[in-house]
Amino acid sequence: MEYKEKELKGKDQASELIEEFIYLRQDVDIEDRVEDLLNRLKIEEKILLIRGRDFWTTNPIERLKIPSFGMTDGPIGVAYHSSFKGKRTRFPATIGLASTWNKNLAFKMGEVMGNEVKLSGRHQILGPGVNIIRSPLCGRNFEYLSEDPVLSSDIAAEVVKGIQSQGIASCIKHYLTNNSETKRMKISTEISERALQEIYIKNYKRIIEKADPWGLMVCYNKINGVHGAENKYVLREVLRDQIGFTGHVVTDWGAARRTSGATGCIKAGLNLEMPGMLLSKVMTPKNVLKALNKGEINEDDLNYIVRPLLRTFIRVGLLEEKKELIEKISDIPEHQEVAKQIAEESMVLLKNKANFLPLDIHKIKKLAILGPNAKKLFGKPLHGGSSAVVPPKEITPYDGITKYIDGKVEIVNKPEEADVVLLFVGLNHGGHMLLNLLFKKEGDTEGSDRKHYGLPIKQQRLIGEILLKNPNTVVILIAGSPIDVSDWFDDAPAILNAWYPGMKGGEALARVLFGEISPSGKLPVTYPKRLEDHPAHKSSKRFPGDLKEFKIHFDEGIYVGYRYFDKHQIEPFFPFGFGLSYTEFEMFNIQIYKPNLQGEGIFTVSVDVKNIGDKSGAEVIQIYVGDDECSVDRPHKELQGFEKVYLQPGEEKTVSITLTESAFEFYSDIEHKFLVETGTFTIWAGSSSRDLPLYAKINYSK
Ligand code: BGC
Repeated sequence: MEYKEKELKGKDQASELIEEFIYLRQDVDIEDRVEDLLNRLKIEEKILLIRGRDFWTTNPIERLKIPSFGMTDGPIGVAYHSSFKGKRTRFPATIGLASTWNKNLAFKMGEVMGNEVKLSGRHQILGPGVNIIRSPLCGRNFEYLSEDPVLSSDIAAEVVKGIQSQGIASCIKHYLTNNSETKRMKISTEISERALQEIYIKNYKRIIEKADPWGLMVCYNKINGVHGAENKYVLREVLRDQIGFTGHVVTDWGAARRTSGATGCIKAGLNLEMPGMLLSKVMTPKNVLKALNKGEINEDDLNYIVRPLLRTFIRVGLLEEKKELIEKISDIPEHQEVAKQIAEESMVLLKNKANFLPLDIHKIKKLAILGPNAKKLFGKPLHGGSSAVVPPKEITPYDGITKYIDGKVEIVNKPEEADVVLLFVGLNHGGHMLLNLLFKKEGDTEGSDRKHYGLPIKQQRLIGEILLKNPNTVVILIAGSPIDVSDWFDDAPAILNAWYPGMKGGEALARVLFGEISPSGKLPVTYPKRLEDHPAHKSSKRFPGDLKEFKIHFDEGIYVGYRYFDKHQIEPFFPFGFGLSYTEFEMFNIQIYKPNLQGEGIFTVSVDVKNIGDKSGAEVIQIYVGDDECSVDRPHKELQGFEKVYLQPGEEKTVSITLTESAFEFYSDIEHKFLVETGTFTIWAGSSSRDLPLYAKINYSK
């Protein structure tokens, strides 16, 4: 049979009478509905479904009453440019969400985003962004979570569950190894199978196993020489066969452009090429027909890639679609309250000499609020790239603090006249994404990476000048990446990392600085003393990569982040998991239930924790596991579980964390699978990767 292009153009000529069609019946099992719909689709209609119609939607098939499927950008809220210029709840940066180590808040954030996707008349959000934070310099760190796959996946899985609880598809991105922005369309990640599996794939695998996301976005870059969109190993072997992913795979916008053609992408199992129009040149009707007519692909190949798309359409209720009113502005106090709570819990207290913080509103007479990030608005269209959410109102640090102290403390402009100075420094998103690209602006932004680990020189000078004029200066970092604080660390009495705190950031900051709540954020990444100490920065081949050959060498292998600092006994500036509080905690009495574990199973680690300070606060119990003896080289220890606990002064609780034998596994590149070896393992508990006062042993046998 010869397939002709003109057949694809006439819309849905024969409008069939659809009555009791199985695929429309909600009482029927979803897989039967998918098969029924697949059988009814003509081949031309299948071809129309696998490529976008425009920037945010797919082609409808009116004959079968399949409306168009609509998407919005994420991951820090519903992005303005993709939601009919809708103003929506702007959340803190996702690196900040990870710093909360709070799974409930992650779920709530997902719920709000899912709800606001609905208010935007769409069905999917392109988020969360879950790439491992491999370097402090990646421009998109603010959209990602952590250097550790367990923390990243446990938090991201809750975001996914929250989004999907609203009947909206979450699309986790950017699979795989899109861990930097420089030359992201062309660069190839050169990586060992073990590192790929044990760090990068594991992150996705855990999210998929825990939360079953309905969508996944494939990256621009190549993985070991093959672009993500046509990479059969990562898309079919790993994602479908090893992990069992049931959702659809969409390209990053235009990511199939440079691949080996429709046949390559279809055979690799890519389900949808976006955004359609000029940017998508691969799975065009013409190319797909050509491939069919040449016999390079057949209808079974097409069915293989259409099936997951139909599954998503049914999962989001696309076929039951009622026209919903699109709301221009989501100005919803309950949603904004979630953004505020995340901001409050995300802030990491990095230094607090002699309990300089919290500030006492009754004692301070004059306060100066200074620095370039005190009044800056971040929620502007395309600032930072595709994640830009424009909120109905953004409360800057200056707004939030002046409102909080109104009438109680005088604001002064000169640092030398103030009792205390609050100095807001940090990074920026550069500007509008297109201008960033045009003028090659570096920054905390999509499309480029930072060149330096420190603050801009001007800001470093400013910190020095202000501290000279007034040593009672709290330095507050507003940024989406780790920042070198070494030059001025000794001089500042207190340092607070507030990340990008979102639309309610100013209110959250006021409450933290004046002690209504204790900071409880813990770093989801390691801060090196010098960039050269960091595993991703041992050479420029590792980061930003060999830009002549377009290769980025992940030569540190599995030793990403703290795993490397441990192995080489390098002292970080701030370790992974670190963060101070206004109160103090003590942990004691570690217990393992089932200290002898056999085969597949679960075991529980419990720890008692007590607030021994005089303020209420929250602590994160972090559980790390190390293999006492193994046939392969392994990290000294790896995070395997955590729990956040809230305690009043004097209060004590027992925290129990349940793990499985997978806490002992490593990836064998000889057997090409995860293995657990018989032996003894050490379980550590504590409050950061470098503060683990408790340990116990467990024996594992097969
Ligand atoms: C980004 C994605 C984004 C997409 C759509 C791409 O350039 O990498 O994260 O979702 O554009 O805006």
